[in-house]
Amino acid sequence: MSSAEKVSSVQIVLHGIGVSPGVVFGPAFLLSSRALQVIEYNIAENEIDLHISRFEDAIIETRKQIKKLQNNLEKLSDIHDASILDAHLMVLDDMTFIEDVVNTVRRDRKNIEFVVNLVSEKYAQVLAAVNDDYLRERVADVKDVARRLMRILSGDFDNALHDLKHKHIIVSADLAPSETASLRKDMVLGFVTNMGSPTSHTAVMARALEIPAIVALKNVTENVKNGDQILIDGNKGVLIINPDEDQLEKYGKLSEFRKSIERGLANLKLQPARTIDGRKITLCANIEGTSELDSIKEHGADGVGLFRTEYLYLAQNKRVSEEDQIESYADAANAVFPNHVIIRTFDLGGDKYIPDAHIAKEANPFLGCRSIRMSLLYPEEFKKQLRAILRASHRKNVKIMYPMISNAQEVVKANELLEEAKGELRRSGVSFDEEIDVGAMIEIPAAALTAEIIAEHVDFFSLGTNDLIQYTVAVDRVNERVAYLYEPTHLAVLRLIQRTIDVGHKNNIWVGICGEMAADPVLTPLLIGMGVDEMSVAPSMVPLIKDAIRSVSYEQCKELAEKAMECKTAVEVLSICRKMLKDVAPELLELT
Ligand code: PEP
Ligand code: MG
Repeated sequence: MSSAEKVSSVQIVLHGIGVSPGVVFGPAFLLSSRALQVIEYNIAENEIDLHISRFEDAIIETRKQIKKLQNNLEKLSDIHDASILDAHLMVLDDMTFIEDVVNTVRRDRKNIEFVVNLVSEKYAQVLAAVNDDYLRERVADVKDVARRLMRILSGDFDNALHDLKHKHIIVSADLAPSETASLRKDMVLGFVTNMGSPTSHTAVMARALEIPAIVALKNVTENVKNGDQILIDGNKGVLIINPDEDQLEKYGKLSEFRKSIERGLANLKLQPARTIDGRKITLCANIEGTSELDSIKEHGADGVGLFRTEYLYLAQNKRVSEEDQIESYADAANAVFPNHVIIRTFDLGGDKYIPDAHIAKEANPFLGCRSIRMSLLYPEEFKKQLRAILRASHRKNVKIMYPMISNAQEVVKANELLEEAKGELRRSGVSFDEEIDVGAMIEIPAAALTAEIIAEHVDFFSLGTNDLIQYTVAVDRVNERVAYLYEPTHLAVLRLIQRTIDVGHKNNIWVGICGEMAADPVLTPLLIGMGVDEMSVAPSMVPLIKDAIRSVSYEQCKELAEKAMECKTAVEVLSICRKMLKDVAPELLELT
């Protein structure tokens, strides 16, 4: 069948969650499913050799990849045991396995992907049944190697995207945050996924890159075929496969209308983020890397409220040297001077998994060795980062922030390591900000409920509501099946936020919010009314939030917050917030 024949002309409209705004139209490019669906088909006699030679090539490529991984692991030898991959190489060298695959292709005349899966499953089952702990443990190795082989056979992520020659809309079951980070804006118009949620790091990254995106489409990979023309509206979460002329015109006009609102908002760039009655809110930007620094200026932010430094690591898939870290942090500090940059220490784990670490194999990564827990587990690595931050701080506009704090002792321990790092720099005669501010992210209910104890050890709090919500209502932030329960305006969440702000102010420390709640203009008046001092959002969202801030009075906001606290449901809160935005800045509703 030719590729033209494969393209369907049936029109289908799908609804998901728009996580990164913008309307785009273009051909679909289907990435192989992350869940690796194995296709089975018969092959002709004269195709057998071709399939066997693809298998041989895949073995060579797999071996190369494993060796490379092993080299990387060896460089990180204090954490990792590179020898684990020897077992994977042994599977690849196992002649019984290889011959079994080749013989099965010849005998059954099935495609190679199907046969590799079949034979490796058989091997795994046999090993699992053996009464020998060592052999049973090899099941995971066989599965791992088979998965790698299959990915290569079906064209893996990097290769597939690398080969794109024209702009496409990526269609995939799911995307990891690191994969999203590697999308090339010149070849990727937008992306859509079956899975995902608005606060997943994949969505966060899409907004940072300003690539229109829709997640939680459930079965988009089954409805779209390679080459289908698709239209996506990243604001409203609508996807149309093979749209007709009328729809293209309608969405073209809508996009123009939104752009005209955005052009109006761009005039606010040099205006302060201040309410009608004069309450100043520090409006900062969240960044994942230094490539976003220009965007901060362009959109008129007051500084950086969250630098997600773990993306330095994820972008290269390996540790970042102290020197490279200093360069990134100093670039950020210089770019926003005299405004501040809040550098958050590595927040690895959760959905920002590290493919080469054993730690990633936890059953519940969001509840595991994530974030500050991982930093404290590897103090030398942590100190390396702290030294790098300190060395970028001599202009006194850098602040340090610890993520995922669950008790005051973690802050005390982190501060002790910070003092050690300072001592090391003093001894080397390196200058830095001796009075550097330290903050704690409040993103676990336990931290919010004991904020007065944590307050003794920090200079500021920053509410990480993306995690605070998931840990409060017990809803995995990346699981679309329970996304309906992920409610930012849940009363429990609002009470924890209010408590944190009140405790912070009572202890003379300011309180910011850098979770995605801060980027929803519908919630801006509520957060102002609750007393938040700083908001930090994706650079592209700064103009919207500034407009929302400048459209209300602090008095109005306080009244709204009081009313919200008396509501009984999250929906009620949302509805009074929407009503207020509709009254004061209706144009923003179109953009959200
Ligand atoms: C948060 O949890 O709200 C936050 C800002 O951190 P991250 O999204 O990186 O977990
Ligand atoms: Mg967080």
